[in-house]
Amino acid sequence: MIKHDTDIIIAGGGLAGATLALALARTLPQLRVTVVETFPLSPEALPDSYQPSYDARSTALAWGSRLIFEELGLWQRLSEHATPIRHIHVSDRGHFGATRLDAADHQQEALGYVADNRWMGLCLMRELLQTSVVWEAPAEVTDMQPLPDGVRVTLGSKNGERELTGQCLVVADGGRSGLREKLGFRVDEQAYDQHALIANVSTSSSHNYTAYERFTDAGPMALLPHGSPRRAGNTAALVWTLDSGALDDLLSLSNEDRCQRLQQRFGWRLGRFTRIGECSHYPLTLKTVDESVRPGVVLVGNAAHTLHPVAGQGFNLALRGLMALVEQFRMATEQQQPLGSLQVLKAYQARHRQDWQQTVRFSDSLIRLFGTHLPVVTTARDAGLMGLDLLPGAKRWFARKAMGLGGRRADIRASGTAITEHNNHE
Ligand SMILES: Cc1cc2nc3c(=O)[nH]c(=O)nc-3n(C[C@H](O)[C@H](O)[C@H](O)COP(=O)(O)OP(=O)(O)OC[C@H]3O[C@@H](n4cnc5c(N)ncnc54)[C@H](O)[C@@H]3O)c2cc1C
Repeated sequence: MIKHDTDIIIAGGGLAGATLALALARTLPQLRVTVVETFPLSPEALPDSYQPSYDARSTALAWGSRLIFEELGLWQRLSEHATPIRHIHVSDRGHFGATRLDAADHQQEALGYVADNRWMGLCLMRELLQTSVVWEAPAEVTDMQPLPDGVRVTLGSKNGERELTGQCLVVADGGRSGLREKLGFRVDEQAYDQHALIANVSTSSSHNYTAYERFTDAGPMALLPHGSPRRAGNTAALVWTLDSGALDDLLSLSNEDRCQRLQQRFGWRLGRFTRIGECSHYPLTLKTVDESVRPGVVLVGNAAHTLHPVAGQGFNLALRGLMALVEQFRMATEQQQPLGSLQVLKAYQARHRQDWQQTVRFSDSLIRLFGTHLPVVTTARDAGLMGLDLLPGAKRWFARKAMGLGGRRADIRASGTAITEHNNHE
């Protein structure tokens, strides 16, 4: 067997790549892990302190993701700036159906959390500093050649090109993955013909730790509790889907008029909208691959699946996939199999496939069901929302989906040795 420069090469040090690096360091400390990241981000270049910012972009973490971060020994720090979601309110503008989920009904302190991406990145980097993970940044993976028992990767940086060999390349370079395209993975792409507008907003009433999912005739929107975990404040993180005409129109308005437009769409459950912060927007496309593995290569995170952000499932699904991959690597190491062998990677894919297919279907059907104006469908969905409220079984199923407990989850015990697989299907 050839002696490689490293064992696992991770292309991309975003949330998925950095979390995988930490999970590997915790579970299989004997492996050499190298992360290659285009941006000049690295554990060594950390700011000394964290100042939450009004315009920070955030992610809704399901309860199941909290359990994974606990297993990685990261939750205690992360929870310092993670706002709990104690209630979820789902409604349909102009129709009678609505449903409400409460953490207390599930004997839990929260259904999920909202954490700023920058804070999650900082927590991950601080933990990675304590590990032997090697960080190459700024640098990018520009090419990959398969070897009989691994991969040869070309790294480009300001110092020129060099090669690195490893047992396996994990592609975590995001939704617009250049490597996925270069390596010829087939992507199933469906445009929603909508854009997501992201901003933080101020309201006259407190969010009371409630996440609102509101479906309107012009597209769905979500308002998530944002800010201090200890005091229910008046800031919410907005994800608003609009077609391109409505987006251009909204962006041309003054802040006051934008607040009014939002008020018309969302209603008064959070009182008056008093400010909309910096707006960013993204075209919405569902991207999934059918096959996420090749000899020596595996796609993870957004490179494997990019979902509609309103359902808040993308990173949560990615996390469960990363844990499944780590578990597969652990078993392969025990059985002395090469980590990049197609047998090992296909076993990972089979382990994760049901979860990813169900989650993609769940978030896609939610958007399509609520994105239609046909009376027969709107009546059925209102009845569905009412039914969720009336039928405890259906409501529990929906709550478990929202909490990220609907699929398989590999738990890494804090000791870093024993890993148990939970099958949370009901
Ligand atoms: C508007 C919006 C809201 C969202 N809200 C939620 C939510 O509430 N809950 C949820 O679960 N998910 C949410 N998501 C999804 C979530 O943000 C992603 O799933 C998550 O960020 C996964 O990131 P990633 O690491 O796969 O990709 P990215 O964050 O895109 O990271 C990819 C990294 O790879 C680097 N890179 C690229 N090419 C190369 C290369 N060739 N070599 C080396 N490095 C490279 C990039 O610099 C980047 O740092 C949302 C997404 C969007 C767009």
